[in-house]
Amino acid sequence: MIPEDVVYTFDDLKREYESYIIWPSDRKTIEEAYEFARKKHEGQFRRSGQPYITHPVAVAYFLARLKTGPETIAAGLLHDTVEDTGTKNSEIRTRFGNTVADLVEALTKIADVTHKHSLHILAEDHRKIFVAMAKDVRVIIIKLCDRLHNMSTLQYQPRDKQIRISQETLDVYAPIAHRLGLYKIQLRLEDISLYYLKPTEYAEIERLLAAKHESLNAALERLKARITAILSPTSIPFVISSRVKSIYSIYKKMASGHSFDEVYDIMALRIITQTENQCYEVLGFIHANFKPIPGRFKDYIAMPKPNLYQSLHTTILTDDGNVFEIQIRTKAMD
Ligand code: MN
Repeated sequence: MIPEDVVYTFDDLKREYESYIIWPSDRKTIEEAYEFARKKHEGQFRRSGQPYITHPVAVAYFLARLKTGPETIAAGLLHDTVEDTGTKNSEIRTRFGNTVADLVEALTKIADVTHKHSLHILAEDHRKIFVAMAKDVRVIIIKLCDRLHNMSTLQYQPRDKQIRISQETLDVYAPIAHRLGLYKIQLRLEDISLYYLKPTEYAEIERLLAAKHESLNAALERLKARITAILSPTSIPFVISSRVKSIYSIYKKMASGHSFDEVYDIMALRIITQTENQCYEVLGFIHANFKPIPGRFKDYIAMPKPNLYQSLHTTILTDDGNVFEIQIRTKAMD
């Protein structure tokens, strides 16, 4: 049930970027890039039957959700014009300036190399070539949003292509998203890839999650209430949010020999506070009130991950026998 082919309009995109891009000249650049791309792709269609322009608009929409700058959004709108409509990069340079033209040029080159060689190179090399060619991190972010939309519309592709693209996404794109700390994109790419690569397993995990959904949610609400009761009397500011583990990460645990019921922390709670010291204070309260599971505590504040990720992680056992992962971090870390 994963492939939801949401069609974003220019108005959706506009609403998103106008929430934070306020200079009239910046907004004008994006509008002009949209008009330019729309004319160039006129008469072209996606396999879904939608006009081709819906693809660059979706890519730009994802970029606006990430609050990227106007040039990045413009380049997202223009990213397929050189490759697919025979537009000259010099035309983009004249109309939109060097930054946008350089981004589009880099994206076109990567598309070229990866199309030609994707069957012959190892995932590791593919990843290296990709990162080396994209000297500007914005190129990688646009490429990730491009892949995210292509994955979201993969149901219209033939089966062999679904498999090839999904494997490539898992090998090349998801790890890059992870390294950049773009976790939502990473999880989405992984889940959709799994849906096409292991349809039976995917459906089974989805079914198990649905069956447990209510009891897990109830346990989660109880835990939230208890933590709120513990932290409220202190002067520590906090906000609690929660997430369900992704299907792909449950799949990976199960593939390494665990049963569904043994997969810890299907639900995770996140406590956001203000300062680094308060993170450790919150941790103290959690460990004083719940039984921590040995070997599961990680201090990524003192020792950040290579991608600079910072947070405290601990896994606890509640009185009702549920296991939860708890992440504690400041707003800035989040
Ligand atoms: Mn594209």
